[in-house]
Amino acid sequence: CGIVGYIGKRDVAPLLLEGLQRLEYRGYDSAGIAIHASGTGKAAGLKTAKAKGRVRELESRLPKRFAGTTGIAHTRWATHGAPTDENAHPHLDAGGKVAVVHNGIIDNAAELRAKLTADGVEFASETDTEVLAHLIARSQAEKLEEKVREALRHIEGTYGIAVLHADFTDRIVVARNGSPVVLGIGEHEMFVSSDVAALVSHTRQVVTLDDGEMATLKADDYRTYTTEGSRTSAEPTTVEWEA
Ligand code: GLU
Repeated sequence: CGIVGYIGKRDVAPLLLEGLQRLEYRGYDSAGIAIHASGTGKAAGLKTAKAKGRVRELESRLPKRFAGTTGIAHTRWATHGAPTDENAHPHLDAGGKVAVVHNGIIDNAAELRAKLTADGVEFASETDTEVLAHLIARSQAEKLEEKVREALRHIEGTYGIAVLHADFTDRIVVARNGSPVVLGIGEHEMFVSSDVAALVSHTRQVVTLDDGEMATLKADDYRTYTTEGSRTSAEPTTVEWEA
């Protein structure tokens, strides 16, 4: 239902929770968050928290150590699988390297799930979304953008997605097909959301993706391109908003 993401210098969890709260008006049944945790050794890596129910519930479940400056979050309106903690986004691959939040419906999820299961992949949820995390993790492509692009080639249906990968801590990759994705351009920080309402308290400079478009967000720059890989114009526009 709703997506928010941030990459920059600030502590990400409070920012994302605030963004999710701004999306609450849309309705949802569960919420979740994934971050690139700062630190070294066991402290580092992808960390997630999810909860059925309100954003407040999610907030109370955040682990004590949940510091980082890059993350993605989601409010879910279930289409495939009941509203439960397990079915809340983000969804991870079995190795815990890829985290995906998704709005929309993957029409051929059952078929993809059957193929992956036959290949030995174990699923942790009943959602259509989870196939994406496994497909991205299994891609042999070198770049994260290419991994996501390869995974999306298998997908029939609608999506707005945001992706984190443990081996690519300097970026968030997003894509849109039939479900809105808006980039918020800041100073040494970038935002993404499915809804401009979650961005306007931070920046009025936005780039609205078209269907078939993807973007890579880094703290200091961003670029947009088609799912086939050719660059697209990414000039920001200024949104008018009555606070
Ligand atoms: N189809 C996905 C699910 O059921 C995403 C739903 C949404 O847009 O929130 O988990």
